[in-house]
Amino acid sequence: MHLPLLDQKELKLSESATLSQKARMLIQQQVSSWDLAKTNYEGLKRVKVRNVEFDNCSIRVQFNPERIRSSAAKVDAKSIQERACFLCARNLPKEQKGILYDDQYLILVNPFPIFNEHLTIPDILHADQDISCRLKDMLLLARELDDFVVFYNGPRCGASAPDHFHFQAGIKGFMPIEEELVNLEEKDLVLPKEGCGIYMTDNYLRKVITVVGEDIEMIAAWMREVIGMLYFLNEDRMEPMMNILCSYDNGEWRVHFFPRRQHRPKQYFDQGEKQILISPASVDFGGVFITPREEDFVKIKASDIEDIFEQVTLSDEDWKRFRVSLLTCL
Ligand SMILES: [Zn+2]
Repeated sequence: MHLPLLDQKELKLSESATLSQKARMLIQQQVSSWDLAKTNYEGLKRVKVRNVEFDNCSIRVQFNPERIRSSAAKVDAKSIQERACFLCARNLPKEQKGILYDDQYLILVNPFPIFNEHLTIPDILHADQDISCRLKDMLLLARELDDFVVFYNGPRCGASAPDHFHFQAGIKGFMPIEEELVNLEEKDLVLPKEGCGIYMTDNYLRKVITVVGEDIEMIAAWMREVIGMLYFLNEDRMEPMMNILCSYDNGEWRVHFFPRRQHRPKQYFDQGEKQILISPASVDFGGVFITPREEDFVKIKASDIEDIFEQVTLSDEDWKRFRVSLLTCL
């Protein structure tokens, strides 16, 4: 298979550079040599942002017209089957180059960014978006890319290529959740285990399950447990609807699960004045609401944000059932 890899010399870094440094250099290289990336990263400097404040958190609303592709992406089986997969190496634009990671993933610049530094990290093979056998990959990647938060959008929760496995990564320091949740979750510790803690936070507009710890095997095992418990709340026996954020700092992983009951809120399907074109995925759950249309950016209110989260986050009933399952693990 031919992979469009960036020559090490073009990265202008020594062999000993970290993966984070290489990835950041890749972004610089692509922005200088690929018109689409250049236009869209420069455009990002002009996107409008405003903060909507709540009691214990804030949501940053970003008007980002280029994201219409993702927010309004058709992800039904027929549409997916009929289009050429944009994450397969053979279909990438000729200017797009990447860095091979672990002989399995291709680190690419996301040409339609939300973050100032935004990566898409597809498998080199065309395989379904299914996280179950890649939990440790996510943890290892987060440790290697420690300037970034690595995230996963489930196939029914915002992934615009549900047929081709991919992670994404955004530069740290952008999503409000990175600062906010640490302060909130103290009282939400449900399962203290040696070297690992599991928190359930439900006073944060959306429900969050957080796994924190230093032992990669233990964290991966608990991630598997969490997904297994969510799986059994499902009736359709498919991968539970969820988004996952994962970061690594000072020897510790922090993994946030956002369990879901719905992909898009009713406002997405409303017509006329009532419509708000928002299709929440990991970054929205991380506290940055992406509105591809300016009219939505202007009109969205705190009560709309509360309502949208309420519709898409796990139901109270399933949240209680999850807690019971978790407690039985003690
Ligand atoms: Zn593909």
